[in-house]
Order: sequence, then structure tokens, then C-alpha cells
Amino acid sequence: MRKESPGLGDRLKLKVKQALGMEVVLCDSCQWNWRNACNLPERHRAIWCPDYKKKGT
Ligand code: SF4
Repeated sequence: MRKESPGLGDRLKLKVKQALGMEVVLCDSCQWNWRNACNLPERHRAIWCPDYKKKGT
């Protein structure tokens, strides 16, 4: 089943990354970041995504 929103653990990780000034947009490192692979409206600016898959994994 597809997660529709980040869980507590994901939200905490996001807060820590933001507090540390780390890159939080996922799409730049996502395997699906090209037009035919991802039709989600969040593409290019997703900070949390249930379909995220790191490039090269
Ligand atoms: S699957 Fe999610 S993280 Fe990957 S490109 Fe699409 S919106 Fe961005």
C-alpha cells in the first residue's frame, strides 16, 4: 500500500536535515527523475515521496 504522507520518523529526519542546512529536495538524486518515469506534481521539489528511489541502487 502506498504511503500518502510521511510518518513520524520521516518527519523527524526531515526536520534534522533542514536544521543542519542539508539538501532536502529528493528529486535530484531520484532514479525516476525524468519525464516519462515520474508524473507526480511534486517532481523537482519533493521533500518526501513514497516512490523515491536513490539513483544507482
Ligand atoms: S518519484 Fe518522487 S522523488 Fe522521484 S522524481 Fe518523482 S516526485 Fe521526485
